[in-house]
Amino acid sequence: MTAAMEPLDLYGATRAQLAEHLDRVGVGAHHAARVARGLHRQGIALEAIRDLGPRHARAIRDSTTSPELRLAQVLPTEDGTTKLVIALADGARVEAVIIPGGTKRATLCLSSQVGCAMGCTFCATATMGLVRGLSPGEIVRQLHLARPIAAAAGRRITRVVFMGMGEPLHHYAATRDAIAVLTDMNGVALARDSVTVSTVGLPARIDQLGRDFGGQVQLALSLHSARQPTRERLIPTAARHDVASLRAALDRYPRRGRAFIMLEVVVIPGLTDTPDELAAIAAFASGLPAIVNLIPWNPFGGASFRAPTSGEFVEARRRLDALGVRVRLRLPRGREVAAACGQLALATAG
Ligand code: SAH
Repeated sequence: MTAAMEPLDLYGATRAQLAEHLDRVGVGAHHAARVARGLHRQGIALEAIRDLGPRHARAIRDSTTSPELRLAQVLPTEDGTTKLVIALADGARVEAVIIPGGTKRATLCLSSQVGCAMGCTFCATATMGLVRGLSPGEIVRQLHLARPIAAAAGRRITRVVFMGMGEPLHHYAATRDAIAVLTDMNGVALARDSVTVSTVGLPARIDQLGRDFGGQVQLALSLHSARQPTRERLIPTAARHDVASLRAALDRYPRRGRAFIMLEVVVIPGLTDTPDELAAIAAFASGLPAIVNLIPWNPFGGASFRAPTSGEFVEARRRLDALGVRVRLRLPRGREVAAACGQLALATAG
């Protein structure tokens, strides 16, 4: 007698997991690539996959789960950013944001958890606490939902950033499997260096990500401050991982070719943009192929910080430039629909 089989997460299964499963249910592992292509690349139902046949489709359907994700709201903005509010099968909601790039492409910012456990004091998502982690299938299907919307605007989603709700490295196994599906040539088939994981900075997990993907996944560190007391004030989990250990993890992260490490720095006037703070950022970045991504703090109700004026924001940039740091400005997009960084709780929390 065989043990009861765990139903497989159909849309979150890596190709190896899918092959093993198809073997087990009598479909045959050799159908795995075809099934993955049908589900992820063509976006069609099992029953519509050519050469699979109704009996096999049925066997797969009956032995797997594919929780329904529904587009609850599509909120376009004038700058072209589109926020998607996505309802999960249990009623929980997450958000994804389509960010246009160039003329024909788009980046999808997606969520890894409902809410977040990291408690960052400047982030709206933190006010929700952690509700639950998404399954790999729920992570991947955000792209399936977003793809036709991007296509209607003449754009193809070629990049994915884990910068929506949640801390991807605090939900590592699901994040890893979702990346495997997104980058599988028979799956969604994104180029591996087109996936960016943004993290609050968990050194052991950064190491693991480096081992699992050989540095082909881009890393973004939410640094915000390179001075320990300030960082702890913004990011409570920083108390467990000091700035030096984070820096060491970045040094160890395997890098392919000319890949950069993103250092995200949110500009909060008087707190993260003082000359001492910016000098510490410059010291942290030195010796790394790093780009500092400056983000103006996006306000939300109940927060005790102030957003920078455009003058203050530009001044922070000028100072970092003067310190020899490579800087990129991340201007708030989609602010009127609360799609900007750290505001992803607003539409769903109320
Ligand atoms: N948990 C991950 C990814 C989600 S947040 C991380 O911490 O990196 C994506 C980025 O938005 C992070 O750099 C985060 O620090 C930043 N952010 C959060 N709240 C913000 C706010 N109110 N204004 C501007 N950026 C914010």
